[in-house]
Amino acid sequence: MMHAPDFVAPAPRTLCTDCGVSRMAIARSCGTACQFIKPDYPAMEGQVHGRARDPARADELHFGPYRRMLRARLTPPRAGAQWTGIATRLGERLLETGAVDAVLTMAPDPEDRWKPVPVLVTQAADMAHCRGMRMGYAPVLALLETAAAAGHRRLAVIGIPCQVYALRRIEAQLGLERLYVIGTPCSDNTTTERFHQFLALLDEAPDSITYLEFRADFRVELRFADGRHRLIPFLQLPISQLPSDFFPLTCRTCVDYTNVLADITVGYMGGEGEQWLLVRNAQGEALLALLGEEVTTAAPGSAGKRAGPVKGFLANTERAAGGLPLRRMPDWLRPIVGWLMPRIGPKGLEFARARVEMKAVESIVHLRREQPRKLRNMLPAHVWALAAPYGLTPRPEEAPPASAAPPSPRSSHR
Ligand SMILES: Cc1cc2nc3c(=O)[nH]c(=O)nc-3n(C[C@H](O)[C@H](O)[C@H](O)COP(=O)(O)OP(=O)(O)OC[C@H]3O[C@@H](n4cnc5c(N)ncnc54)[C@H](O)[C@@H]3O)c2cc1C
Ligand code: SF4
Ligand code: SF4
Repeated sequence: MMHAPDFVAPAPRTLCTDCGVSRMAIARSCGTACQFIKPDYPAMEGQVHGRARDPARADELHFGPYRRMLRARLTPPRAGAQWTGIATRLGERLLETGAVDAVLTMAPDPEDRWKPVPVLVTQAADMAHCRGMRMGYAPVLALLETAAAAGHRRLAVIGIPCQVYALRRIEAQLGLERLYVIGTPCSDNTTTERFHQFLALLDEAPDSITYLEFRADFRVELRFADGRHRLIPFLQLPISQLPSDFFPLTCRTCVDYTNVLADITVGYMGGEGEQWLLVRNAQGEALLALLGEEVTTAAPGSAGKRAGPVKGFLANTERAAGGLPLRRMPDWLRPIVGWLMPRIGPKGLEFARARVEMKAVESIVHLRREQPRKLRNMLPAHVWALAAPYGLTPRPEEAPPASAAPPSPRSSHR
């Protein structure tokens, strides 16, 4: 496994998650590659999947173009994985079968398990080391140059949405023979340093926390080095003790929760306690087929109503963005609501739709407050469509310009 060399740090930008492009020879491509400048999702969906999302097809407005959505689990679940390990197992299978020369992804920093370090993996067995979620971002795409220098022309990238958008924008310049893109959803990321502050608020022994996940049953799961395990209802999280800039503006305003430009998205939100897959194109189908009988799949379920929780979230986001304290529920009511939420709250696909809508309204509220002039170019029309039922519509100066017509699909294998 090859770690990222010490790249030259780029000049800081207000909205940048250091995906790696600014550290490459093509650094000037940031202007067109960046999700935070002027993304064109309809055109990119057309380029990658052969068509843009179709709001007439169930759930595409929320989740982007897809062929199949599935609940899924890997048997046996892989030790150290965030869920059952589908994302890293796909990378492992690509290497095992010789379909790719290398996989670009993140491993934990040897000094800090929560810090992501970009790695170029050429041995299937090394994928096990990359399992699990880290909090933070690191310049994984800069490894494209390392891969090219080593003569690797068939690659896979496992990445989060802001990395995958930039990757797709520069893909044509890379001269690759084959590129597989395995995406995970992503939201509420922050720097590793800040994440350590959050862990310190959650438990008296923050250094022994080995796993954290915001589960679809409205609880955060913590696992500890000594085998202990804790579940904390969302309502009891110390969110009001976090500074208002705890989440960087990038992660409060990014517009692609479900990684719509990946060949396959591997997450959990719509999985009701299992994983959730969105197979987006023919290459995504080929990736899933690599797992054979190791993966068990079923149709995703959906229950409950999202409108109430999304409205509540919007009200609180507006208060917080306006510098007001979060509306706190009385302490006596919290355990009761904490108990009720997993039972009556939205579940399965309805939970995933709720989270995507929350992210849409959050992006609008925070950009209006902090960078209003970015709204027009940075917010795609589909984000406004998701927020419209909650009374958020573009003012004349905020309305997105008409998208360029989607180019015809470039490659026939997808
Ligand atoms: C900050 C963050 C927030 C997320 N939020 C959601 C969410 O709200 N809803 C949802 O459904 N899924 C979310 N995910 C994805 C989820 O945590 C799992 O990665 C996904 O479900 C795959 O699980 P798995 O067991 O198949 O992954 P594994 O097989 O354990 O592999 C995980 C993969 O993710 C990569 N990875 C880990 N941390 C990072 C990082 N910081 N940046 C880039 N790549 C990383 C690893 O290198 C590895 O390749 C989030 C991921 C991150 C990093
Ligand atoms: S393309 Fe990547 S490196 Fe360039 S500004 Fe955007 S996030 Fe930063
Ligand atoms: S929350 Fe959005 S901007 Fe932040 S790391 Fe995840 S995809 Fe990138």
